Amino acid sequence: IFPDGRRNARGINLNVNSQFKPLMAEMTPFFERDYSAGPLVGFDLKDKSGEQHDVICPWDHTRRIGKVRWTSAEETSRAIDVAWKAFPDWNDTPVEERAAILERFADLMEKHMPELMAMCCMEGGKLLPDGVAEVREAVDFCRYYAARAREIFEAATALPGPTGESNELIMQGKGVFATISPWNFPIAIFCGQTVAAAVTGNTVLAKPAEQTSLIAHRVIELLYEAGMPREVVQLLPGDGATVGSVLSSDRRITGVAFTGSTQTAQLINRSLAARENAPLPTLVAETGGLNAMIVDSTALPEQVVKDVVASSYQSAGQRCSALRVLYVQEDIAERVIETLKGAMAELNIGDPTTLATDVGPVIDEDARKGLQAHIDRLKGEGRLIAETEIDPAIAANGTFVAPTAFKIDGIDALETEQFGPILHVATFKASEIDQVIDTINERGYGLTFGVHSRNETFTNHVASRIRVGNVYVNRNIIGAVVGVQPFGGQGFSGTGPKAGGPHYLLRFANEKTRTINT
Ligand code: GLU
Repeated sequence: IFPDGRRNARGINLNVNSQFKPLMAEMTPFFERDYSAGPLVGFDLKDKSGEQHDVICPWDHTRRIGKVRWTSAEETSRAIDVAWKAFPDWNDTPVEERAAILERFADLMEKHMPELMAMCCMEGGKLLPDGVAEVREAVDFCRYYAARAREIFEAATALPGPTGESNELIMQGKGVFATISPWNFPIAIFCGQTVAAAVTGNTVLAKPAEQTSLIAHRVIELLYEAGMPREVVQLLPGDGATVGSVLSSDRRITGVAFTGSTQTAQLINRSLAARENAPLPTLVAETGGLNAMIVDSTALPEQVVKDVVASSYQSAGQRCSALRVLYVQEDIAERVIETLKGAMAELNIGDPTTLATDVGPVIDEDARKGLQAHIDRLKGEGRLIAETEIDPAIAANGTFVAPTAFKIDGIDALETEQFGPILHVATFKASEIDQVIDTINERGYGLTFGVHSRNETFTNHVASRIRVGNVYVNRNIIGAVVGVQPFGGQGFSGTGPKAGGPHYLLRFANEKTRTINT
């Protein structure tokens, strides 16, 4: 699908025997990573003694897997100085040079895939196949954005004009971008946001999620190895209260690309807007979802359940795209629920490095507590449909949450997104379908959505009425592929443009019209 004829990396089916096992065998034995020297920045760090943190494996709390040091507020400000000064030259660097760095970076990530997979498992608690998908998606983002950048930036677009006048449209970077990324896609989304901002001519301050700082360091080391100048992309590990708030309140920040909760996006938006005497900012936000799926009575229950299980429990439900509310037409509800119970009983919870594991840990203790409180509340109301068992020895050693399914009346019963392996099931009568669609739309999120039916008129009607970014028909609702299923939502779910889509880079660029009297 890429202009040079290369196939999309994630489009290739992973063959377990010929590709996966050799990869696993190659996975470097994980050694402790020491990143306590501090942020990766374009100036000499004076004081290296700042706030240090131990990184603990989320599925084996007895293992310390590394150390990081948070960036101080003062270092964050200095990094902005560096980025600000570096912008004009980087913006003038030919797009070919910028794009070539992304392609070398993609090659390096492929070369280091076993190591990066291992880091995803150890620090992010990801299953091995998720680790592979993670690296491949990051590689896809780099190659896709490199190709798009050449198309958009290489030549000016000639515009019509009267005789004696030449008009053209030129695309340029906007300035200094902060990219604030989530722990659930510590390589893919982290790289996608960062390289998009850089390839379009902006200098970048990348703030990774606290929970996946080691991975971010390794990825940025590879980016430097690919030739990215240190003052163009700087890595600022740390917490939102320090690094995030310095970034979003500094008047030199031209734009922020953020993926995370709706609440944090609103906070960033307010902070950018409150700056005195600051240029109008750009905010590209990809936030949460209360994603639903509607299943009518003509759907195939076995297919529905396979897709529901993947959508709700893969990656322990820690995807913005994951299914939260399943609406099943009354007539087949019992069959779907019985089949779902059977499928949930088959899930294996545990160590993500074992191929037999279906569901790994959630990211940390705060996440576990919040999810467990929601589970306990719904259990207390007598709403439990099914809960997968976890071996108590496994549960005791990490932050595991059992996959659960609960009966609810509808999406309005949920106050917020529960970012974990929790599914809610509601039923509806055939005559109520438009009411169900209206309720989902009015709830205000708009990220992913699924519809299962063998009635084409029904799927067309539902898919057209629903207001979301990504609609999936008769399949699961996760795992959007770069360049194939551009990803992102609307309303509470984000600002657009869609990651991995043809228009994404445009939001990071300024348009300049040049008129010459010839
Ligand atoms: N793009 C991912 C998917 O389609 C989800 C990204 C996210 O969780 O932010 O599953």
